[in-house]
Amino acid sequence: MQHFSGFGLLKHSLTHHENWQRTWRNPTPKKKYDVIIIGGGGHGLATAYYLAKEHAVTNVAVIEKGYLGGGNTARNTTIVRSGYLWDESSHLYEHSLKMWEGLSKELNYNVMFSQRGVINLAHTLGDMRDLKRRVSSNHLNGIDAEMLDLQQVKEILPHLNCSDAARYPVIGAAWQGRAGVARHDAVAWGYARGADALGVDLIQETEVTDLIIEDGTIVGVKTNRYGDIQAGRVGSVVAGNSSVIASMAGFELPLESHPLQALVSEPIKPILDTVVMSNHVHGYVSQSDKGDLVIGAGIDGYNGYGQRGSYPTIEHTIQAIIEMFPIFSRVRMNRQWGGIVDTCPDACPIISDTPVKNLFFNCGWGTGGFKATPASGYVFAASLATGEMHELAKPFSLSRFHNGALIDEHGAAGVAH
Ligand SMILES: Cc1cc2nc3c(=O)[nH]c(=O)nc-3n(C[C@H](O)[C@H](O)[C@H](O)COP(=O)(O)OP(=O)(O)OC[C@H]3O[C@@H](n4cnc5c(N)ncnc54)[C@H](O)[C@@H]3O)c2cc1C
Repeated sequence: MQHFSGFGLLKHSLTHHENWQRTWRNPTPKKKYDVIIIGGGGHGLATAYYLAKEHAVTNVAVIEKGYLGGGNTARNTTIVRSGYLWDESSHLYEHSLKMWEGLSKELNYNVMFSQRGVINLAHTLGDMRDLKRRVSSNHLNGIDAEMLDLQQVKEILPHLNCSDAARYPVIGAAWQGRAGVARHDAVAWGYARGADALGVDLIQETEVTDLIIEDGTIVGVKTNRYGDIQAGRVGSVVAGNSSVIASMAGFELPLESHPLQALVSEPIKPILDTVVMSNHVHGYVSQSDKGDLVIGAGIDGYNGYGQRGSYPTIEHTIQAIIEMFPIFSRVRMNRQWGGIVDTCPDACPIISDTPVKNLFFNCGWGTGGFKATPASGYVFAASLATGEMHELAKPFSLSRFHNGALIDEHGAAGVAH
């Protein structure tokens, strides 16, 4: 990145942003790559970065049909935590959280990772029992987590409605102090810049329209802009579009694509310094550094590829937030949007080889893959470099849908899907 003095910034603002140095190149693709990654979201870009950085595989292209990080990476509410229930997920998400803790330094790019903690509210004895079970499981995996009683919740969240008269009164919570939020765009940009500097070609506004498969082995992709591009290995990292790529390869994935919405309010003075989630009332909220309330809830119930959502879901989400924080009732909402999330029957990702040789998939992160971006890229890069699935990725193989070794994370996935 080019660094400007105050004078330099002034000069560039007056010259209509001319002659700024590009943060990454805009190359014409080569005819052949060792690895092609389909999808330039955070996961695809992180994969490319670690392929080059950790495995010296630099003859790599990331092919993105829109702009880098413009999919779910740009649309998510940026909650990062590692408090999942089962060992397999805990190992993966905790690996990721540790990587988040050093990510700005690793990329020399400020991803604004803010460890402001995540609180999961309990409204019933069933909630308390589930959260206690998860906290105990986290302790067994060396992950920071604790149960809070109502008084401790009130101290952390003085504006939370803790009245007995609430529809679902709060009775306690679970807390992970190392959890938090990050700047989503910066994560994509940091990985993009790092990958580009190591020689990876980032090809934007280019859609993969088909896969070239010969005798059961992938040998390249077809694109709408540059025709055929050959590849030794191909990794598909396209989130809500994963079933579309799988259908090009001639198999089906156990995924459903759903809209997931989020909203931000007008900016207000600092009022909330942590992330609050409630599975029961079903909504979550944090406050961005800019002052907006960042709000989300569950998926829209129907399948679709339109990056928007239905009004009833917005209404339900706002109801939940106002129920938790009546003080927010007069705050105006500024914007609403949707992304398409790829939900898996056991609420866990798929990081796997496939029936087509040299074709790998990284998908199924549903409503919660942003937090996994560093580890997902790290383990997927190892798999693409060696052809062997990384140890942390092995439990998330497609084979689990044949042998029954499912990892049910519905309870810990945060919002319902
Ligand atoms: C509203 C919302 C809130 C969320 N909140 C959170 C949260 O708080 N915490 C959390 O951990 N996760 C959250 N998530 C989930 C998270 O955003 C995703 O799991 C994660 O960003 C997925 O990253 P990705 O790189 O795999 O996908 P994406 O960022 O979607 O990237 C995939 C890319 O593939 C491209 N593509 C698709 N098809 C093709 C093709 N044929 N050719 C070329 N390119 C193609 C797309 O254009 C896209 O850019 C949320 C998601 C949404 C929608």
